[in-house]
Amino acid sequence: MTHPAPIDVLSLEPDQLRARLDEHFAGRSQPSYRTGQVVKWVYERLASGWDEMTDLPATEREALASAFRLSEPTEERVAVSKDGTVKHLWRLEDGALVESVLIPTRTRLTLCISSQAGCAMGCTFCATGWGGFERQLTAGEIVSQYRASRRWAEAHDLGAITNIVYMGMGEPLANRKALHPSLTILNRGYDVGARRITVSTVGVVPGILELADRPEQFRLALSLHSPDSELRRELIPLEKRHPLPEVLDALEAFDQAGGKRITFEYTMIRGVNDALELAPRLADLAMRVNAFVNLIPFNPIPYRDWRPSDPVRIAAFARILEGRGVSVAVRGTRGRDIDAACGQLRAHVAEQLGAAAKGS
Ligand code: SF4
Repeated sequence: MTHPAPIDVLSLEPDQLRARLDEHFAGRSQPSYRTGQVVKWVYERLASGWDEMTDLPATEREALASAFRLSEPTEERVAVSKDGTVKHLWRLEDGALVESVLIPTRTRLTLCISSQAGCAMGCTFCATGWGGFERQLTAGEIVSQYRASRRWAEAHDLGAITNIVYMGMGEPLANRKALHPSLTILNRGYDVGARRITVSTVGVVPGILELADRPEQFRLALSLHSPDSELRRELIPLEKRHPLPEVLDALEAFDQAGGKRITFEYTMIRGVNDALELAPRLADLAMRVNAFVNLIPFNPIPYRDWRPSDPVRIAAFARILEGRGVSVAVRGTRGRDIDAACGQLRAHVAEQLGAAAKGS
C-alpha cells in the first residue's frame, strides 16, 4: 500500500490548514482544540519542527510528522553589511539556492523575498536575469523565507519585520500559482497587513489584473526603468510581449480598484536611462496612475560595465518630477559591500562552488 505524500503545511492557506488538521485529528479521535494548538505553533510561535509542539502528546506529534511536512530552508550564507542590511542565501530541500534581504531603517524592518529560483525574464541590469531560470518556488518556500528571516531578526535584536517586498529573485507574477496563496498566508496566517506587502513586477499584465481583482490592498511596484518603450525593451525583454501602453492600462485598472498604491522603480544607469528629457515623460506616466517614484542608483553587477548615475543628475531628475507634481524619493543603495543587489550573492556563491568543483 502506498502512503499519500505528506501535506506541505507552509503552502496551505490558513483555512485549508485548519480544515486539514480538523480532518486529521477527527480521524484520530482527538479533541478539536488540537487544531488550534498546531495553528498557533505554525503562525505565532514559528515552530520549525513537530518536536517543538510540546503541548501535544508525543504520539500526536509523531502522527503529524507522518501526515504533514514542515520544511524549512537551511542557511547557506549570511552577510551583514556595514549599513545593517542582512542578506541570506537559503538552501531549499532540493538544493536550490534563493536569496532574501533584511533592510533595517529607523522606523521599519523590510524583508525582500524571492519568488523563483533564478529568473527567466533576462533583464539586462540584473544579476539574477543573467543567471537564468532554475524553477518556481512553492508558496511554502516563499513563506519559509519570511519565517526563517523573522526568527533570525528576533535572535539578532533587529525587531519585528514590518514590511515585505517581493523584489528578490524572480518575477512574482510569473509564478502566480504560488504567489497568490503566499500573499494570503502572510496576510491572514502571519498577520502582515496587506498594505505592508508589495509585489514587484517588470510588467506581467495578466498578473497585474489579477492583483487588481483581489479584495486586499496589496501594493504594486512596477520596475519601469524607462518611460520610452524602445529603450525599455533593451533593459527588460518582457517589454516586447507587454509593451508599456498595455502595462499602463493594467495599472490604471489596478489604481481604479481603489486604495491600492503603485510605485515606479527607476534604476538610474549613467548614460543609459538618465537623460533629463526622459523625466517629463516619466512624470506623465506617474501622474496617470498616481504612482510614487523611487529613483535608485544602479548597483553594479559583474556582467556589465554600467555605472550608477551621478548624484547631481539624480537630484536634477527628481526635481523635474517634483516640479510636475510627482511624489518622488531617491533611495540609497543598500548593502553594496555584501552583494545585496538581487541575485548577486547567489551568483557569487555559484561561481565559487563552480571554481571549487573545477579545482577539485
Ligand atoms: S529584474 Fe526581476 S524580473 Fe528582471 S531578471 Fe531580475 S529578477 Fe527577473
